[in-house]
Amino acid sequence: MSATTAASLAAEWEMVVGLEVHVQLKTRTKAFCSCSAEYGAPPNVNTCPVCLALPGALPALNERAVELATRAALALNCTVHPVSVFARKNYFYPDLPKGYQISQFDRPLATAGHVEIGALRDGSSTRIGVTRVHMEEDAGKSVHDRYPGVTAIDLNRAGVPLIEIVSEPDMRSAEEAGAYLRVLKQILEYLDVSDVSMEEGSLRVDANVSARRRGETKLGTKTEVKNMNSFSGVERALEMEFVRQVGVLAAGGRVQQQTMLWDGNAGAVRPSRTKEGSHDYRYFPEPDLPPLVLATEWIDRVKHDLPELPAERRTRFATDYALGAYDVDLLTGSPRLADYYEEVARAHGDPKVAANWVMGEVLAQLKASGGGIDTFRVRPQDLAGLLNLLRDGIVSHTAAKQVFAGMLATGDPPAQIAERDGLIKVDDDAQLAAWLDEVVAEMPTEAERFRAGERKLQGVLIGAVMKKSKGRADPRKLNQLLSSRLGT
Ligand SMILES: [Zn+2]
Repeated sequence: MSATTAASLAAEWEMVVGLEVHVQLKTRTKAFCSCSAEYGAPPNVNTCPVCLALPGALPALNERAVELATRAALALNCTVHPVSVFARKNYFYPDLPKGYQISQFDRPLATAGHVEIGALRDGSSTRIGVTRVHMEEDAGKSVHDRYPGVTAIDLNRAGVPLIEIVSEPDMRSAEEAGAYLRVLKQILEYLDVSDVSMEEGSLRVDANVSARRRGETKLGTKTEVKNMNSFSGVERALEMEFVRQVGVLAAGGRVQQQTMLWDGNAGAVRPSRTKEGSHDYRYFPEPDLPPLVLATEWIDRVKHDLPELPAERRTRFATDYALGAYDVDLLTGSPRLADYYEEVARAHGDPKVAANWVMGEVLAQLKASGGGIDTFRVRPQDLAGLLNLLRDGIVSHTAAKQVFAGMLATGDPPAQIAERDGLIKVDDDAQLAAWLDEVVAEMPTEAERFRAGERKLQGVLIGAVMKKSKGRADPRKLNQLLSSRLGT
């Protein structure tokens, strides 16, 4: 079985995947109290009687959380319901002080949406159904590695607002699941409703996966796969679980409905506990909160005020800036990068040149430093200023890269760096001639051979002058000068 891969089974077997994605909303305070929802505070600092579940404390709904949840649901093409109901999801867990989680059950905030994930099947775009988007609160965190032999509880996260986005079982491969997650993450980033960071836990993914013979229309028994901490981890976990299930089915066995945990280090899935059915949670309407009632005018206004979404921005970039599909995809990858590019392009005036520099120098720097565009030292106006110097022939291409390095190091404006570091292009005949004379004196053999007709030595001589001038010599004028003084 070791050589069996998901791909080798795909001719005969089909993978069926649905995803449940938990997203932490970007609010200042928690869902039902005024505690800070900030990530990374010392343990249990952000707590109060409500999120500690002290007797008599009552929840009060965070309006901002409702707005962000609605924005997300509308951008995922869901119907947002004027009335939805909070419910108690009862279970016992050490990091859940109330003994229940406030969630939504049979009357969720929004239903029946969809997401387009691009052409992965049959060349046409694939639409993945979004079953529902509901609001809920997060639990606390059990900390197992802080005190030896003791599990500690940190309740900073208890009560932080989440949405759960549940998809239809519409994905047919690990690749499609990965594509869905990347599209979803990008939409949420554009909406500015969440930090969508898997490392910080503000985006978490559980997968429901089953296998069936191709041609079969009935769904097989599914398992739930948890504990994946990256999108590529999700893809690998799905493939391993699919291979495992097909192994069971092909041998005439039955897949057991259970929770599987992904072990990224071992690259394997392991059974956890048996799956709770929804009845085990004893859901009932939250008696301390009234139904959530949203005016249709308010829903319409949130919809009207949605920011530009990734697909719209891609179309606009292709039209307004005449960029190819590859450039558009790269530059619209995140909303901040797209903003940065637009500022450079507008201030400089040549969108193609701006694209080349942002995709080249800027992205290379970000990749090398691991930093984000938000804190990038070279501001868009300054990059545009540098591109203007280059266009106007004030600095050479080589010098422009040195100026860019100076901007990265100091944050100073480009003209100032070019002046200070002596990088302004030199096209003064006397200075160019003086450099050329020095090079001829230093390389008499090469100069003589060039004079005798060995044209290929032109590059060597020009290169030596460029080096001597620290990249400042105007190459066009230098070539003319070389031909007129040493030419045959
Ligand atoms: Zn609180």
